[in-house]
Amino acid sequence: MVNEMTTRSPALPQLAPRDADSHKGDYGRVLLIGGSPGMAGSISLSASASIRSGAGLVTVAVPRRCLETVAGYDRCYMTVALPDDLKGFYELAASRVAQLSESATVFGCGPGMRTGAGAEGIVKTLCSQESDKPLVFDADALNCLSQCDDWKSMLAPRMILTPHPGEWERLSGVAASDRKAQEAAAVETGKATGATIVLKGSKTFVTDGKKSVHNSTGNPGMASGGSGDVLTGVLCGLLAQGLAVFEAAHLGVFVHGRAGDLAAEAVGQISLSASDLLLHLPAAFMSLS
Ligand code: AMP
Ligand code: MG
Repeated sequence: MVNEMTTRSPALPQLAPRDADSHKGDYGRVLLIGGSPGMAGSISLSASASIRSGAGLVTVAVPRRCLETVAGYDRCYMTVALPDDLKGFYELAASRVAQLSESATVFGCGPGMRTGAGAEGIVKTLCSQESDKPLVFDADALNCLSQCDDWKSMLAPRMILTPHPGEWERLSGVAASDRKAQEAAAVETGKATGATIVLKGSKTFVTDGKKSVHNSTGNPGMASGGSGDVLTGVLCGLLAQGLAVFEAAHLGVFVHGRAGDLAAEAVGQISLSASDLLLHLPAAFMSLS
């Protein structure tokens, strides 16, 4: 079924040209939640990628102990401190989410967050919001979801999940070694929930249960820490500009892989780092037009 669906690949979506009179408020406000001591870089990579992907404003919510570090990585996003203690992290994050949800238009959660009761609470809070605002779950947000018996019932069409095969095994119960069965499970989950699943790999599979596509860009130089965090940010940036959920996932995965291919041309696959993906996002976007 997957093959049959993917022979009719949808065309690559496009971002509309920018209005000459537009301002940053027209390009969305991304709120990213994640990071922890020892993994501060992950959420920073996501936030910088959101900016490089066209988001108007980006705010990063991180535990207080990481704030100075995360703020120092990039001058172009804002930071919000959350308590270091995970329980407090959840309580304040929940109230921060409530507080910031009026101005935020897109949420991204998970890179570097770690798991535990508090982190699971953040994921539940984001899922339970009665809102149409798009939401990207990656990394530890997915691991938190997999701790919930009824995780599928928490999903909605406004959501994108970006698991690598190990994360998808923990969620779906299908072995990472069986790619075909993992893709079929992604299609089923899309059908049942309306959410878009981005099953990462050398040919990343994107599905919402109705439409599916295998990505054609990217290379093994991207097999290093932080690559997926950049993808989370790219997706949030595209969603912030108003692309529909599946279309943002389709275009985002393509551009992310294209940045990887351009980075590999510049520095080679061996030395390629997630920071190189950020540096090559501009050329990847320019190559689309
Ligand atoms: P993560 O494991 O979360 O860091 O995500 C890794 C990212 O790099 C995903 O977007 C993958 O699709 C991409 N990636 C990793 N290995 C390869 C590969 N061999 N070919 C193409 N893309 C890859
Ligand atoms: Mg990852």
